[in-house]
Amino acid sequence: MAYIICEPCIGTKDKACVDVCPVECIYEDETMLYIHPEECIDCGACEPECPVEAIFEEGDTPEEWKNFIEINAQYFVDHPDATPATGKGT
Ligand code: SF4
Ligand code: SF4
Repeated sequence: MAYIICEPCIGTKDKACVDVCPVECIYEDETMLYIHPEECIDCGACEPECPVEAIFEEGDTPEEWKNFIEINAQYFVDHPDATPATGKGT
């Protein structure tokens, strides 16, 4: 299990989540941010920080956004050398 970033992040990307993640497992591209499914320690710190409620624990992902579970995982298949996003506070 891991946390998942869903559609509301697209076009928002304020990175509040990045600032609170203790293990730097949140990555980004020009579209949105992604949580690494194996690096995430399931601490839940990011979820309440997101201003657009884009983040869900995997099992609580809304039905219409379940495809984002795969989208988050696929990002790391496509970008094995990606470096973690830097937060707005850094
Ligand atoms: S649940 Fe914790 S470890 Fe996982 S992405 Fe959110 S802040 Fe990072
Ligand atoms: S806080 Fe929410 S909208 Fe902002 S980057 Fe993180 S997931 Fe995306």
